[in-house]
Amino acid sequence: MKFTFVTLFQNIVEGYFGDSILKRAIQNNLLFVEYINPRDFSNSKQNKVDDTSVGGGAGMVMNPQPLFETLSRLKSVDKDVHIVVLTPVAKQFNQNDAKRLAKKSHIAFVSGRYEGIDERVIENFADEVFSIGDYILTGGELASLVMCDAISRNIEGVLGNSDSLIIESFESNILEAPSFSKPAEYENSLVPSEYLKGNHSKIRSLKLALSECKTKFFRPEQLLKHRRRKSYEK
Ligand code: SAM
Repeated sequence: MKFTFVTLFQNIVEGYFGDSILKRAIQNNLLFVEYINPRDFSNSKQNKVDDTSVGGGAGMVMNPQPLFETLSRLKSVDKDVHIVVLTPVAKQFNQNDAKRLAKKSHIAFVSGRYEGIDERVIENFADEVFSIGDYILTGGELASLVMCDAISRNIEGVLGNSDSLIIESFESNILEAPSFSKPAEYENSLVPSEYLKGNHSKIRSLKLALSECKTKFFRPEQLLKHRRRKSYEK
Protein backbone atom coordinates (compact mmCIF):
# COMPACT_ATOMS: atom_id res chain seq x y z
CA MET A 1 0.00 0.00 0.00
CA LYS A 2 1.26 3.45 -0.84
CA PHE A 3 0.38 6.52 1.23
CA THR A 4 0.95 10.00 -0.13
CA PHE A 5 0.74 12.87 2.32
CA VAL A 6 -0.14 16.15 0.64
CA THR A 7 0.96 18.58 3.32
CA LEU A 8 2.69 21.89 3.90
CA PHE A 9 4.37 20.33 6.95
CA GLN A 10 6.12 17.08 6.07
CA ASN A 11 8.15 17.12 9.32
CA ILE A 12 5.02 16.75 11.43
CA VAL A 13 4.08 13.56 9.62
CA GLU A 14 7.47 11.98 8.95
CA GLY A 15 8.44 11.36 12.58
CA TYR A 16 5.55 8.95 13.08
CA PHE A 17 7.08 6.42 10.70
CA GLY A 18 10.45 6.44 12.48
CA ASP A 19 9.61 3.80 15.10
CA SER A 20 7.70 0.66 15.95
CA ILE A 21 5.17 -1.17 13.77
CA LEU A 22 4.90 1.27 10.88
CA LYS A 23 8.68 1.63 10.63
CA ARG A 24 8.95 -2.16 10.37
CA ALA A 25 6.16 -2.28 7.77
CA ILE A 26 8.10 0.20 5.62
CA GLN A 27 11.31 -1.82 6.03
CA ASN A 28 9.39 -4.95 4.98
CA ASN A 29 8.04 -3.16 1.86
CA LEU A 30 4.45 -3.48 3.04
CA LEU A 31 4.03 0.30 3.16
CA PHE A 32 5.48 3.05 0.99
CA VAL A 33 5.20 6.65 2.12
CA GLU A 34 5.76 9.81 0.08
CA TYR A 35 5.24 13.49 0.74
CA ILE A 36 4.15 16.25 -1.61
CA ASN A 37 4.18 19.90 -0.62
CA PRO A 38 1.56 21.92 -2.53
CA ARG A 39 3.81 24.96 -2.08
CA ASP A 40 6.16 23.40 -4.65
CA PHE A 41 3.34 23.67 -7.20
CA SER A 42 2.32 27.24 -6.49
CA ASN A 43 2.69 29.53 -9.48
CA SER A 44 2.73 32.73 -7.41
CA LYS A 45 5.98 34.66 -6.96
CA GLN A 46 6.29 33.92 -3.23
CA ASN A 47 4.99 30.34 -3.57
CA LYS A 48 1.83 31.37 -1.78
CA VAL A 49 -0.66 28.66 -0.88
CA ASP A 50 -3.34 30.72 0.86
CA ASP A 51 -5.47 33.76 0.29
CA THR A 52 -8.20 35.75 1.94
CA SER A 53 -11.68 34.33 1.83
CA VAL A 54 -14.06 35.38 -0.98
CA GLY A 55 -17.14 36.98 0.57
CA GLY A 56 -15.29 37.92 3.76
CA GLY A 57 -14.65 35.99 6.93
CA ALA A 58 -11.79 35.58 9.33
CA GLY A 59 -8.47 34.03 8.36
CA MET A 60 -6.91 32.65 5.23
CA VAL A 61 -8.07 29.75 3.07
CA MET A 62 -5.81 27.38 1.09
CA ASN A 63 -6.26 28.61 -2.47
CA PRO A 64 -7.16 26.23 -5.30
CA GLN A 65 -4.25 26.61 -7.75
CA PRO A 66 -1.43 24.75 -5.88
CA LEU A 67 -3.76 21.93 -4.85
CA PHE A 68 -5.35 21.57 -8.31
CA GLU A 69 -1.85 21.30 -9.77
CA THR A 70 -0.63 18.84 -7.10
CA LEU A 71 -3.63 16.55 -7.29
CA SER A 72 -3.86 16.53 -11.13
CA ARG A 73 -0.22 15.48 -11.29
CA LEU A 74 -0.78 12.83 -8.65
CA LYS A 75 -3.70 11.41 -10.66
CA SER A 76 -1.75 11.51 -13.90
CA VAL A 77 0.99 9.40 -12.29
CA ASP A 78 -1.43 6.91 -10.71
CA LYS A 79 -5.03 6.89 -11.95
CA ASP A 80 -5.98 4.51 -9.10
CA VAL A 81 -4.94 6.89 -6.33
CA HIS A 82 -7.78 7.30 -3.80
CA ILE A 83 -7.85 10.92 -2.67
CA VAL A 84 -9.00 11.58 0.90
CA VAL A 85 -9.43 15.15 2.11
CA LEU A 86 -9.37 15.74 5.87
CA THR A 87 -11.99 18.16 7.10
CA PRO A 88 -14.05 18.52 10.27
CA VAL A 89 -17.09 18.92 7.98
CA ALA A 90 -17.46 15.25 7.06
CA LYS A 91 -18.52 11.85 8.25
CA GLN A 92 -16.45 10.56 11.15
CA PHE A 93 -13.83 7.95 10.24
CA ASN A 94 -14.41 4.55 11.89
CA GLN A 95 -13.07 0.97 12.04
CA ASN A 96 -15.20 -0.19 9.09
CA ASP A 97 -13.68 2.59 6.97
CA ALA A 98 -10.21 1.51 8.12
CA LYS A 99 -10.85 -2.07 6.99
CA ARG A 100 -12.38 -1.02 3.68
CA LEU A 101 -9.60 1.44 2.86
CA ALA A 102 -6.91 -1.14 3.69
CA LYS A 103 -7.86 -2.84 0.38
CA LYS A 104 -6.82 0.19 -1.72
CA SER A 105 -3.46 0.25 -3.46
CA HIS A 106 -2.72 3.96 -3.00
CA ILE A 107 -4.29 6.57 -0.72
CA ALA A 108 -3.42 10.27 -0.76
CA PHE A 109 -4.30 12.30 2.34
CA VAL A 110 -4.81 16.01 1.73
CA SER A 111 -4.26 18.09 4.87
CA GLY A 112 -5.74 21.54 5.24
CA ARG A 113 -4.27 24.39 7.28
CA TYR A 114 -5.44 27.90 8.18
CA GLU A 115 -9.26 28.14 7.84
CA GLY A 116 -9.31 25.10 5.58
CA ILE A 117 -9.25 24.19 1.88
CA ASP A 118 -11.05 25.91 -1.00
CA GLU A 119 -14.25 23.86 -1.52
CA ARG A 120 -13.57 23.52 -5.26
CA VAL A 121 -10.56 21.31 -4.48
CA ILE A 122 -12.85 18.95 -2.58
CA GLU A 123 -15.52 19.00 -5.30
CA ASN A 124 -13.04 18.28 -8.09
CA PHE A 125 -10.63 15.81 -6.50
CA ALA A 126 -11.88 14.17 -3.31
CA ASP A 127 -12.92 10.53 -3.59
CA GLU A 128 -13.86 10.74 0.07
CA VAL A 129 -13.78 13.28 2.89
CA PHE A 130 -13.30 12.39 6.54
CA SER A 131 -13.36 13.99 9.95
CA ILE A 132 -11.69 12.24 12.88
CA GLY A 133 -14.01 13.76 15.49
CA ASP A 134 -16.09 16.70 16.58
CA TYR A 135 -13.30 19.14 17.40
CA ILE A 136 -11.07 21.47 15.39
CA LEU A 137 -7.37 20.73 14.91
CA THR A 138 -4.90 23.27 13.59
CA GLY A 139 -4.24 21.11 10.54
CA GLY A 140 -5.09 17.83 8.84
CA GLU A 141 -1.71 16.15 9.48
CA LEU A 142 -2.66 14.51 12.78
CA ALA A 143 -5.98 13.43 11.32
CA SER A 144 -4.29 11.85 8.31
CA LEU A 145 -1.85 10.01 10.60
CA VAL A 146 -4.73 8.70 12.69
CA MET A 147 -6.37 7.33 9.55
CA CYS A 148 -3.11 5.98 8.11
CA ASP A 149 -2.29 4.15 11.34
CA ALA A 150 -5.74 2.59 11.67
CA ILE A 151 -5.75 1.54 8.00
CA SER A 152 -2.22 0.11 8.11
CA ARG A 153 -3.03 -2.29 10.99
CA ASN A 154 -5.55 -3.94 8.67
CA ILE A 155 -3.04 -4.59 5.90
CA GLU A 156 -1.91 -8.19 5.89
CA GLY A 157 1.51 -8.65 7.46
CA VAL A 158 1.69 -5.26 9.20
CA LEU A 159 0.80 -6.61 12.66
CA GLY A 160 3.01 -9.38 13.99
CA ASN A 161 -0.03 -11.28 15.31
CA SER A 162 -3.09 -10.92 13.07
CA ASP A 163 -5.29 -12.47 15.82
CA SER A 164 -5.09 -9.07 17.54
CA LEU A 165 -7.43 -7.72 14.85
CA ILE A 166 -10.14 -10.32 15.45
CA ILE A 167 -10.80 -9.58 19.12
CA GLU A 168 -10.37 -5.82 19.08
CA SER A 169 -12.89 -3.20 20.10
CA PHE A 170 -15.48 -2.34 17.40
CA GLU A 171 -15.23 -5.76 15.79
CA SER A 172 -18.90 -6.83 16.05
CA ASN A 173 -19.57 -3.36 17.52
CA ILE A 174 -18.64 -4.01 21.16
CA LEU A 175 -15.64 -2.79 23.10
CA GLU A 176 -12.88 -5.17 24.08
CA ALA A 177 -13.04 -6.78 27.55
CA PRO A 178 -10.52 -5.51 30.15
CA SER A 179 -7.01 -6.92 29.59
CA PHE A 180 -4.50 -7.86 32.28
CA SER A 181 -0.84 -8.74 31.99
CA LYS A 182 1.12 -10.96 34.34
CA PRO A 183 1.55 -10.98 37.34
CA ALA A 184 -2.00 -11.95 38.34
CA GLU A 185 -1.56 -10.09 41.65
CA TYR A 186 0.11 -6.69 41.81
CA GLU A 187 0.13 -4.39 44.86
CA ASN A 188 -2.83 -6.32 46.32
CA SER A 189 -4.79 -5.83 43.13
CA LEU A 190 -6.05 -9.04 41.53
CA VAL A 191 -7.20 -10.05 38.05
CA PRO A 192 -10.69 -11.72 37.90
CA SER A 193 -10.23 -15.19 39.40
CA GLU A 194 -12.01 -16.89 36.45
CA TYR A 195 -9.15 -15.76 34.16
CA LEU A 196 -6.77 -17.97 36.19
CA LYS A 197 -8.71 -21.24 36.15
CA GLY A 198 -7.90 -22.27 32.59
CA ASN A 199 -11.53 -23.00 31.56
CA HIS A 200 -11.50 -21.25 28.19
CA SER A 201 -15.20 -21.43 27.52
CA LYS A 202 -15.94 -19.82 30.94
CA ILE A 203 -13.25 -17.18 30.31
CA ARG A 204 -14.85 -16.42 26.90
CA SER A 205 -18.34 -15.95 28.42
CA LEU A 206 -16.95 -13.80 31.23
CA LYS A 207 -15.07 -11.66 28.69
CA LEU A 208 -18.22 -11.26 26.61
CA ALA A 209 -20.21 -10.20 29.70
CA LEU A 210 -17.48 -7.69 30.67
CA SER A 211 -17.35 -6.38 27.09
CA GLU A 212 -21.10 -5.83 27.13
CA CYS A 213 -20.90 -4.04 30.50
CA LYS A 214 -18.14 -1.74 29.28
CA THR A 215 -19.97 -1.01 26.06
CA LYS A 216 -23.24 -0.31 27.91
CA PHE A 217 -21.43 2.17 30.16
CA PHE A 218 -19.18 3.94 27.62
CA ARG A 219 -20.93 3.46 24.26
CA PRO A 220 -24.56 2.39 24.74
CA GLU A 221 -25.37 3.05 21.04
CA GLN A 222 -22.74 0.46 20.03
CA LEU A 223 -24.33 -2.14 22.32
CA LEU A 224 -27.69 -1.63 20.59
CA LYS A 225 -25.99 -2.19 17.21
CA HIS A 226 -24.32 -5.34 18.55
CA ARG A 227 -27.62 -6.75 19.87
CA ARG A 228 -29.46 -5.92 16.65
CA ARG A 229 -26.77 -7.69 14.66
CA LYS A 230 -26.87 -10.74 16.92
CA SER A 231 -30.67 -11.06 16.59
CA TYR A 232 -30.39 -10.60 12.81
CA GLU A 233 -27.80 -13.41 12.61
CA LYS A 234 -30.05 -15.85 14.57
N1 SAM B 1 -12.50 26.56 9.48
C1 SAM B 1 -12.64 25.13 9.49
C2 SAM B 1 -14.00 24.77 10.09
O1 SAM B 1 -14.47 25.49 10.97
O2 SAM B 1 -14.56 23.72 9.69
C3 SAM B 1 -11.53 24.48 10.33
C4 SAM B 1 -10.21 24.51 9.64
S1 SAM B 1 -8.94 23.69 10.57
C5 SAM B 1 -8.35 24.98 11.59
C6 SAM B 1 -7.67 23.45 9.39
C7 SAM B 1 -7.59 22.04 8.82
O3 SAM B 1 -7.39 21.11 9.84
C8 SAM B 1 -8.80 21.54 8.05
O4 SAM B 1 -8.80 22.00 6.72
C9 SAM B 1 -8.61 20.04 8.12
O5 SAM B 1 -7.74 19.57 7.10
C10 SAM B 1 -7.95 19.86 9.46
N2 SAM B 1 -8.88 19.44 10.53
C11 SAM B 1 -9.23 20.16 11.62
N3 SAM B 1 -10.04 19.47 12.41
C12 SAM B 1 -10.22 18.26 11.83
C13 SAM B 1 -10.99 17.12 12.17
N4 SAM B 1 -11.72 17.07 13.26
N5 SAM B 1 -10.92 16.06 11.33
C14 SAM B 1 -10.19 16.09 10.21
N6 SAM B 1 -9.46 17.16 9.83
C15 SAM B 1 -9.47 18.23 10.63
